[in-house]
Amino acid sequence: NLQEKLSRVFKNLSGRGKITEKNVKDAIREVKLSLLEADVNYKVVKEFVDHVLQKALGEEVLRSLTPDQQFIKIVRDELVRIMGEKNEPLRLVHRPAPIMMVGLQGSGKTTTCAKLAKLLKKEGRNPLLVAADLYRPAAVDQLVKLGNQIGINVVHDYNKTPVEIVKEAVDVAESTGKDILIVDTAGRLHIDEEMMKELEEIKKILNPDEILLVVDAMMGQDAVNTAKVFDERLDLTGFVVTKMDGDARGGVILSIKYVTGKPVKFIGTSEKIDGLEPFHPDRIANRILGMGDVLSLIEKVEKELDQEKMKKSAEKFLKAEFTLEDFKEQLQEMKKLGPLSSILEMLPGAPKVDVEMSEKELKKIEAIINSMTIEERRNPGIINASRKRRIARGSGTTVQDVNKLLKSYEQMKALMKRMKKGRFKIPFGF
Ligand code: GDP
Ligand code: MG
Repeated sequence: NLQEKLSRVFKNLSGRGKITEKNVKDAIREVKLSLLEADVNYKVVKEFVDHVLQKALGEEVLRSLTPDQQFIKIVRDELVRIMGEKNEPLRLVHRPAPIMMVGLQGSGKTTTCAKLAKLLKKEGRNPLLVAADLYRPAAVDQLVKLGNQIGINVVHDYNKTPVEIVKEAVDVAESTGKDILIVDTAGRLHIDEEMMKELEEIKKILNPDEILLVVDAMMGQDAVNTAKVFDERLDLTGFVVTKMDGDARGGVILSIKYVTGKPVKFIGTSEKIDGLEPFHPDRIANRILGMGDVLSLIEKVEKELDQEKMKKSAEKFLKAEFTLEDFKEQLQEMKKLGPLSSILEMLPGAPKVDVEMSEKELKKIEAIINSMTIEERRNPGIINASRKRRIARGSGTTVQDVNKLLKSYEQMKALMKRMKKGRFKIPFGF
C-alpha cells in the first residue's frame, strides 16, 4: 500500500549524510510511482510532484543536516495541502438543520446517516433520521433498525413519496423540537437521470444546509468521477469517504478535494455504528506516511473513556502495578473503543496484540480473574500448572482459556511498559 511504499522511500533516503539533487529526484520519482499506483488522480500527482520538487531542490534541503526529514516534511505538507489543509466542520444554520445524504447504491449512505446521527447526538444535538430511500423497501427497514439501535427516531412511510416523507419529517422535527434532520436518499448502481431528478426535487423542498455525497474509498478514481457529476447536478457541500478501513489505495482521499474543490468532511472507518470520524487532512497525511494517527486516537480515547478511571489505572501502570484486576478494568474500557487491534494500528510502531474482545470473551475473562486468589491477581507469575487447572475448573473454562488470558495480559503489560517509557504517553492521557 501507499503507506508502506512511501516509508520505504524515506528509509532509503534517511541515513545518508548529505543528499544530492539526484537523490531528491530519485526519491520523488518513487513518490510519484507510489501515488500513481495508489490510484491518485494523475493531475493531482503532477501538481504534487512539481511542488515537492520545487521545494526539495531548494538550498535548505540540500544543505540541511537532516535532509531526509526535511524531505519528508515537504511531502507531508504537500499531502496535507492537497487534501484541504484542515478539517471542515458541518455548517448547520437552520433549525432544524437539514443534512441530505446522497450517493450510489452500496456506498454507505444509510450506515453513514445512522453513524452521523449518533455522533451528533453525542455532541448534544437532537437529530431526527428520515428514510427517503423508497427505491428499495429494505433500505427503510435498515434505517429503522439502525435508528432503534442508537435510540433515534426515524420518520418513514412506505406509502409516501420521498418528497412527502421529507415534508412530513420537517413537521415532525418542528413539533418535537429536533434540531437536525438527516435524510437518507435512494441511490442507483450507476449515475441515473431518474435518481438525479428525485434528488433535485428533495433538495428543493429541503433546502439543506449540507448535501454530503457518500463515496466508497475502494472505488478509486470511479468515485472521483462520480463526485464530479453529483457536484455538477446538486452543488454538494462535501463528502463522506467510507470504507477507509478496507484496503483502499488512497486515491480517493488524495484526489477528491483537488478535483472537485469540495472538502471531505468525514471518513468511515468501520462497519460499526461508531466508525465515523471527522476528516483531518494532517492526520491522514501522517497516517499515510506511517507516523501513526496519534491525534485521532487521543480524540477517540478522550471521548469514550472514563477519564478518572483511566488516570487511576494509568498511574498504576506507571508504578508497574498493572495487575490482572487492572487488566480486567482496562479491557472493559477498551471495549468501548472497538477492537484493541484497531486502536493499536493508529499508534506508530505499536506491537501487534491480538486481543479480541467479544462480550462473551469478556465474560470469560471476568470469570477467570474472579476465580483467582488475590495473590494470583496481583502476582500472576505464581500461576503454575496446578493453579491453572484450579482456576479453569472454578471459572468453568479450560486451561487453554487461562493461558490465553495470561498471554493477553503479558502483551498488554509489555505495551504499557513501552508507553511508560514515553513513546505512547499521550494517547492514554497520562
Ligand atoms: P447505501 O446503499 O449507500 O445505503 O449503503 P449501506 O449504508 O447500506 O452500506 C453498504 C455496505 O457498506 C454495508 O454492508 C455497510 O455495513 C458497509 N459500510 C458502510 N460504511 C462502511 C465503512 O466505513 N467501513 C466498512 N468496512 N463498511 C462500511
Ligand atoms: Mg441505503
